[in-house]
Amino acid sequence: MAEGRSRPAWAEVDLGALRHNVGLLGRLVAPSALWAVVKADAYGHGGPAVAGAAVEAGATGLAVALIDEAVEIRRAGVTAPMLLLSEPAPDAADAAVEAGLIPTLCTPAGVASMARAARDRGTTVPVHVKVDTGMHRMGAEPGLVPALVAAVAEQPTLRLDGLWTHLAVADGGTAEDRDFTAGQLDRFDQVVAGLAAAGARPPVLHAANSAGAIAWPAARYDLVRCGIALYGAAPSAGVAESLARAAPGEGLRPVLSLKAHVAAVRELPAGARPSYGRLRPLPERAVVATIPVGYADGVPRALFASGFEVLIGGRRRPLAGMVTMDQIVVDCGPGATIVPGDEVVLLGRQGTEEITATEWARQLGTISYEVLTGIGPRVPRIVTGQAGAGRGRTGRR
Ligand SMILES: *Cc1c(COP(=O)(O)O)cnc(C)c1O
Repeated sequence: MAEGRSRPAWAEVDLGALRHNVGLLGRLVAPSALWAVVKADAYGHGGPAVAGAAVEAGATGLAVALIDEAVEIRRAGVTAPMLLLSEPAPDAADAAVEAGLIPTLCTPAGVASMARAARDRGTTVPVHVKVDTGMHRMGAEPGLVPALVAAVAEQPTLRLDGLWTHLAVADGGTAEDRDFTAGQLDRFDQVVAGLAAAGARPPVLHAANSAGAIAWPAARYDLVRCGIALYGAAPSAGVAESLARAAPGEGLRPVLSLKAHVAAVRELPAGARPSYGRLRPLPERAVVATIPVGYADGVPRALFASGFEVLIGGRRRPLAGMVTMDQIVVDCGPGATIVPGDEVVLLGRQGTEEITATEWARQLGTISYEVLTGIGPRVPRIVTGQAGAGRGRTGRR
């Protein structure tokens, strides 16, 4: 989809901002390594471009949720180590090996099918074993880990490269959240100690997502798995404060901007009610601009009721009516000098104003992750800020 780019709406992906965030987080967690989580098409930013840029900027590994995501990134020539964040189904073990992934293993059946797939290909596959310390989504119970690690060791075609867990509330600010995270890290440490007592030492330990990496130094271990922070959003207000304390004056930069050109402009009298449902009367005579993005592009209808604004001419402007599938209407007020073709910013900066995914998330009662991954596949991604002379910005217009 989004082949033609004939549509005057697009998402700009600023790889310069991404490199800034990789550098900032890399310095923060050093000497732990930074691995870039590029699942879900790099949180909607474009998997291959982001994976390549993150590695160039210093990420030493990558992580994906799906084998297909890895295949797309490998096709773009990215050769960095890549962790598959869940255990592949038995019939997907071959594809995981083929994609050059480090599979996560958490069951004896997973160990057996991965060993078989590696044997069939005459290769040795590095694996990471996952412990469930309290997230309760994926992973082996702590008591079952020693047997699982022993099962891996018995397989000549598998090599135990890592042991990891995942934190459920590292972004949380309550005492209960903090106790829970501390408890998860304790359980993880106990598993590691138990393995060591039995002579097994996984070379790489990891536990932290962005929130853990920023707010929980004890969770950094050998590497951190950062997603959302690389894309320029803090996982929560509390984590944003932790980062401001740890790296004063060095904020994360949003990587994605959602932009469009005004498609049509009309002047309407006070009381006119644009769009489906005729839900909002114009408070006064106003210029109403039509913008060619809608809920099929990831601008949810719920934004209409939540005080959503867009930037046109460097100013915030409210919606004039309900979000539709392909278009929104914007109340630009009386006498606005707006013409078709003017730039509209739905996410990002224009002049001194900025709208962030976190602002949308607050209005929608969700998290920035869902906003960013919700930007639809029919919105072309325009990559800007590539490293290397001569290539410069890939413009639009
Ligand atoms: C998505 C994911 C991450 C990245 O989380 P962020 O909060 O975006 O940094 C890390 N680890 C696992 C297991 C994940 O599923």
